[in-house]
Amino acid sequence: MPNPRGYNARFIVVNHPFTVTESRTWMCLICGWIYDEAAGDPEHGIPPGTAWAAVPMNWTCPECGARKEDFEMVQI
Ligand SMILES: [Zn+2]
Repeated sequence: MPNPRGYNARFIVVNHPFTVTESRTWMCLICGWIYDEAAGDPEHGIPPGTAWAAVPMNWTCPECGARKEDFEMVQI
């Protein structure tokens, strides 16, 4: 782990779902679909600017139906 401090800091942000300090992106590990917090997923009821932590647990990947736990935060 090259930068464990930075890694932990990101999880602190995630624990405050309605405080979006920077837009992050999350990738579906099954099909590679990208969720962008700034863009949201308006076609499926997620308005732009919705933090990942605020996305409902029953939301699924629009491409393959994977659950939130199958997504991983990515840097673009
Ligand atoms: Zn997917």
